[in-house]
Amino acid sequence: MTEPGRLATPRAVPETRRAARAMREEVERRARAAAHHPGQPGHSAHEAPLPPPAPEPVAEAPDSVGAAAEPEAADPVPGVAAPTADVPATRRAAHQAQLLDPRGSTPVRHARPRRLPRRIAVVAGLAAGAALLMGSAAMTAMMLPTALAAGDDHAAATALGAQLPEIAQLPVPAVEQTAEAADICAVPEVSAALQAGADEAAVAAAGGGEAFRAALVEGRAPCVNLGDSARIWTVVDKTRPASPVDYRPSGLVLPDGVRNVEGGALRADAASALASLATAARNAGAGEIALESGFRSYQTQQETYGRHFAERGERADQVSARPGYSEHQLGLGADVVACAGACGTLDDLAGSPQGQWIVEHAWEHGWIVRYVEGATPVTGYSPEPWHLRYIGPELAKAYHDGGWTSLEDFFGLGPAPAYLG
Ligand SMILES: [Zn+2]
Repeated sequence: MTEPGRLATPRAVPETRRAARAMREEVERRARAAAHHPGQPGHSAHEAPLPPPAPEPVAEAPDSVGAAAEPEAADPVPGVAAPTADVPATRRAAHQAQLLDPRGSTPVRHARPRRLPRRIAVVAGLAAGAALLMGSAAMTAMMLPTALAAGDDHAAATALGAQLPEIAQLPVPAVEQTAEAADICAVPEVSAALQAGADEAAVAAAGGGEAFRAALVEGRAPCVNLGDSARIWTVVDKTRPASPVDYRPSGLVLPDGVRNVEGGALRADAASALASLATAARNAGAGEIALESGFRSYQTQQETYGRHFAERGERADQVSARPGYSEHQLGLGADVVACAGACGTLDDLAGSPQGQWIVEHAWEHGWIVRYVEGATPVTGYSPEPWHLRYIGPELAKAYHDGGWTSLEDFFGLGPAPAYLG
């Protein structure tokens, strides 16, 4: 293979050149001898290697371009095949001696210029690579002549390398890519899911609940409307009514396998998720969870609120939503109760095993407890441990993981403590 330590050092060049001179003298000596003894071959592939030249200190600059030709294999350029060990260096030297011999058939100048083009190729290759990275040929135009004039490949490469940190700071295509990735609406899968009304899939395509939430808060989700009453992420509170105010969802169903106290319906995705929640609670040994109240129409809410208002006056707003301002009108709100044979009241839930299980696990099925202790100034409602709101598993996970206590804070909206008028 290669001959490290000999050919890879600068000293190999003048040594070999001296060897070449010695070989030329030896060839000439043998030619003279052969003239006296014609029967002996003077130059055979099987002849014994000529004695290697004695190493001598050389003052000549090893990298001088203008120097006489040197063996091609002595130049340790990466990727260039090095001489094999089974070829004696001395024979190569002899061959070089023939090339150098002005009396030979090959003119000496054929060997001389070989090193210069290779150096130019190496340095120019480095410079071209740097120019591509920088998007400018200015540096290359400045550095290349300097490097060649100095005759120092290493210095040229070092000088070029010193520019690399500045190259890394150039914000060429990365900025556009980041901007495109930041807007979740530019993600085709998000747009397609939104078009299809597949809300949960849209959140997943945006990178999950937290990525979706962050995009909304940071203004990187212009295609997502929190005021769209048909979306699982819609926010309805005392300052944000349904749209239109008498909005009514389509596809209302009764949840399968869930005891239904008042025959309440839910949106299909919410109904399925409530059945999943009730099954999981039962399997966990927490007991039975029943649906007390689901969808309530604008007209129904008018009657409900009217009844509370008749009993409490202005204080009705603390316990009942005005028509058009209730999550029950979305088909995404569910009031649940705990049952052990008979079902308890809404107020009984908090002290039941079911109520505790809901606090810990409802989010796993896409539900959050919408009105909790300490969030009244933001939500405008006293705590309601029984009022669950469906936002889908992706968003509910982010809501739970982030320790949020209101949808208003979750989506970076202002508080809604009271009706505006
Ligand atoms: Zn409720």
